[in-house]
Amino acid sequence: MVEVRFPNGDKKEFEQGVLLLDVAKSISEGLARNVLGAVVNEEIKGLQEPVMEDADVRFVKFDDDEGKQIFWHSSSHLMAAAIEKLYPGVKFAIGPSTDSGFYYDIDSDHVFTPEDLEKIEAKMKDIVGQGLELERVEIPRNEALDLFKDREDIYKVEIISELPEDELITLYKLGDFVDLCRGPHLLDVKKIKAVKLLSIAGAYWRGDEKNKMLQRIYGVSFEKQKDLKKYVNMIEEAKKRDHRKLGKELDLFSIKEEGPGFPFFYPKGMIIKNELEDFWKGLHIREGYGEIKTPLILNEDLWHRSGHWDHYQENMYFTQIDEEDYAIKPMNCPGSMLVYKSKPHSYRELPIKLAELGFVHRHELSGALHGLFRVRAFTQDDAHIFMLPSQIKDEVKDVMRLADEIYSVFGFKYRVEISTKPEDSMGSQEDWDRATEALEEAVEELGLDYKINEGDGAFYGPKIDIQLEDSMGRPWQCGTIQLDFQMPERFELTYIDENNEKQRPVMLHRALYGSIERFMGILIEHYAGNFPVWLAPVQATLIPVNMDLHFDQVREIEKRLVAEGIRVELDSREEKMGRKIRDSQIMKVPYQLVFGDKELEEGTVSVRRHGEKKTSEMSIDEFIAQIKREIKDKEQN
Ligand code: ZN
Repeated sequence: MVEVRFPNGDKKEFEQGVLLLDVAKSISEGLARNVLGAVVNEEIKGLQEPVMEDADVRFVKFDDDEGKQIFWHSSSHLMAAAIEKLYPGVKFAIGPSTDSGFYYDIDSDHVFTPEDLEKIEAKMKDIVGQGLELERVEIPRNEALDLFKDREDIYKVEIISELPEDELITLYKLGDFVDLCRGPHLLDVKKIKAVKLLSIAGAYWRGDEKNKMLQRIYGVSFEKQKDLKKYVNMIEEAKKRDHRKLGKELDLFSIKEEGPGFPFFYPKGMIIKNELEDFWKGLHIREGYGEIKTPLILNEDLWHRSGHWDHYQENMYFTQIDEEDYAIKPMNCPGSMLVYKSKPHSYRELPIKLAELGFVHRHELSGALHGLFRVRAFTQDDAHIFMLPSQIKDEVKDVMRLADEIYSVFGFKYRVEISTKPEDSMGSQEDWDRATEALEEAVEELGLDYKINEGDGAFYGPKIDIQLEDSMGRPWQCGTIQLDFQMPERFELTYIDENNEKQRPVMLHRALYGSIERFMGILIEHYAGNFPVWLAPVQATLIPVNMDLHFDQVREIEKRLVAEGIRVELDSREEKMGRKIRDSQIMKVPYQLVFGDKELEEGTVSVRRHGEKKTSEMSIDEFIAQIKREIKDKEQN
């Protein structure tokens, strides 16, 4: 017999080898119909798999990450079955699920086109309609080898050859389509009701450019047609909001072939960047941080000492000065350590919080570069907090409160994850336990939900990751709070305690925007370029109704607004008023201010808010008071 334990604490006994399907049925038929698989002792399994030992079992649905994994993995096999029917003789390499769907790498003389994808989709529907089950079979390794050799499935043969000789090989059969696969899979493919094949790309076998280039077909699938529709709409909306496209249209930044991964910021982009930085600086001064600036280039010894030389070299750029080796900093920490070390500290001074908007360079492969999302040089909103072990919890709480304050200004929701001790780590178990507990308590005392990522911490300490959710529901990993036991050791940081003895401080690294450049990219897409007034590069366009009659007076009003700290642009082109209003709206300027005879006579302005049809009349003083309040409060649109 085996004992199965459920998340609610219930336990049940079953015959050894009981199928997960039957375990589900023992709870209810409805549950068995609705779940896609289960997590059994932390391993994801399909319902057609047996339980061989005492186990914690948690059934999963499509809404669970594990459920999606099973669903998309099966969809990939379904796609392969369809491809084999349509294009016999095609050779299959690997077909996994990803975070956002699935793909299969295939080797074929036929060059796949978008029209083929439609045909394959239709065939997949056909197969789903046949109501087949994904049957799991285990056979000895040699039999499996023979089977795939007969079919000249060279990629599968290569994979099997690398498995241990005595291992049983798992195959999944879908009708007459047999595939080598460890699973897990859906029990039946009927659940795959909505499929969209998205694109075709080249991919080397095993990611090695010395190997043959295969064709990779990407797809995504859902249980319901309406979820697919929602997804397709989201993709289209995301395309419209692409920050590279908007960055160009709104004249914010560009990336030129002279510097791949090194963005150029234009005046309007710099306004946004500076606003983000000024906002950040104000908050950090209030929170008692000291701002520092450490050099971009520091000598090789420092990077040996910090461990970057051994662990991070591939991502670093190097240079020589006076025939000595130097590195361009990929992180700000070592510089910050040197600032802390430059004088002795007493326990009374702690915590010491050093903040730095540090410009770092990191080498990324050219293929991985993507607008502002993945660059080779960026500004980290870094800070290092040096503290007593007893201060960890309160400091983490303060950082979390600050993060909350920043994210809510942009209307981001967020999720918190705590990552614990990995297998290969440094520092005593006691240190880890205390630090991890402090992180958990800090988050709990703030009343936040969190997820634990067991064993996912950095080797130097546990951490909190904060994942933002943008206006389209997409997740972005931005904030991170990482405790570090290693760096204070390596740099021999000390403070003098109340008994006049030297002690090691605890240190944490933290960033809230993450990278300001990337955060800007996220904001551009989050707002679709419609920045709230405080961030908008131009806050109001001034439009004289008649250039000959009104220009001079509007010029005077422009000066007044500028003196009030409002970013305005006077449209002095010889164009019609309607055209000027439209162009200002295309540039997503929050306010269009129109001045004609009546307004100039009465000292008023006709105000149109971007995205609204109606206009309202108010005195210029009223407008100034209104927009200044909006800027000061960082109001959302
Ligand atoms: Zn750091």
